[in-house]
Amino acid sequence: MIINLISDTVTTPSDGMLDAMFNATVGDDVFKEDPSVNIFENQVASLFGKEAALFFPSGTMTNQTAIKLHTQPGDQLICDHYAHIFNYEGGGVSFNSGVSCKMIRGERGKITSEQIKSCINSPDFYHSPRTSLVCLENTTNKGGGAVYNINEIKKISKLCKDEKLALHLDGARLWNALEYTKEDPKMYGSLFDTISLCFSKGLGCPVGSVLIGSNNSIKEAIRIRKILGGGMRQSGYLAAAGSYALEHHRKDLNEDHRRAREISDCLQNMVSVKSIEPVETNIIIFSLNSAENETKFIKYLKDREIHIMKLGKGKIRIVTHRNYTEDQHEYLLTTLTKMKSYG
Ligand SMILES: *Cc1c(COP(=O)(O)O)cnc(C)c1O
Repeated sequence: MIINLISDTVTTPSDGMLDAMFNATVGDDVFKEDPSVNIFENQVASLFGKEAALFFPSGTMTNQTAIKLHTQPGDQLICDHYAHIFNYEGGGVSFNSGVSCKMIRGERGKITSEQIKSCINSPDFYHSPRTSLVCLENTTNKGGGAVYNINEIKKISKLCKDEKLALHLDGARLWNALEYTKEDPKMYGSLFDTISLCFSKGLGCPVGSVLIGSNNSIKEAIRIRKILGGGMRQSGYLAAAGSYALEHHRKDLNEDHRRAREISDCLQNMVSVKSIEPVETNIIIFSLNSAENETKFIKYLKDREIHIMKLGKGKIRIVTHRNYTEDQHEYLLTTLTKMKSYG
C-alpha cells in the first residue's frame, strides 16, 4: 500500500465517520432545512464563541467569501508573502473581490503588528488603495506548520480595531495550532472578525470547510456563497462527518505531531539533509545539500512506496495525517535510517 505523505488532504473517512454520514438526517440546506448542517454550524460557532457559522465546499471558498465580506473593489488587504490566499487560490483575491495584496516578508508565514502597521495606507491619502483587511494564517502552510504566538495575535487584533480594519484568520489548520498550544478556541473567536476552518485535512472529512463570524457577517456570507455557486442541497451527509470529526478525530492530531517530530529527528541525522525547519505541528519542510540528491531522495522513497512532495526552491515537504499509521511510520523511519549511507 502506498504511504502518501504529500498532504493531510489525502485523508479518507474512518469507519465511524462513514457510519455517521450514512445515518445522517438531511434536508435542503439552500432553504436552511438540513438539520445535520444546522447542528454542525451551531457546534462550530459555539466552540469558538462566535454567533454564527456557515458550511462551505472548500477552504478556498470560505477565505474568498471572507475577503469579499470585508472589502470593496479597489481596496487592499495585508498578508504575508507565503499566504495561501495569495499563492494558492488561483488569484481569487483580485478575481472575486477586485482587491490587491500588500505583502509582508514575515517569518515562516507569520507577520507582526509592527510590520502590519507600517503597511496601512492612510485613509485620507486617496492616491493609494484603501487598506481594509488583514489576513493571518495559522498554522502556516508554506511556512511549514508554524504556529503564531497568541500575544502577537492580540497585538494585531488591537491594531486592527484601532485602525478600523477587519481581521480574518485562514485557520485551515487552526486545529493543529490549538492542539499544539492547548489554547481555548474561544480566545481565537474573540480576536478575529471571521475565521475559516478546514475539516478535510487533519480532521479526516472527505469535504468541507466552515466560516465563523457575527450573525450579520454570516447572513451576508450566505449571499456570497450562493453567488460563488457554493450553496449545497443535502450537505448534511458531509456535515455529519464534520460533527463526527469534532468529537472523535480532533484529539488524534497530537499523534500526527509526534510522528512529524520523530521524522524530523531522523532527518536531522542524515548527511544529505542540509536543514530542517523547526517542526511544531504536522508539516516537515527540509532541504538537501544538492539538487541531484533531491531527485534521488524522492525517487528512493517512491521506489519503496513512500510519496512525498517537492516544494520547489530546493525544499521538500512531508505531511503527517490520520491515515498514516504507526506501522507505516516505523517503516518510514527504518527506510530513512537505511538510506543514511546512501545520500
Ligand atoms: C488547504 C488550505 C486552504 C483551503 O484549501 P482548499 O483546498 O480550498 O480546501 C486554505 N488555506 C490554507 C492555509 C490551506 O492549507
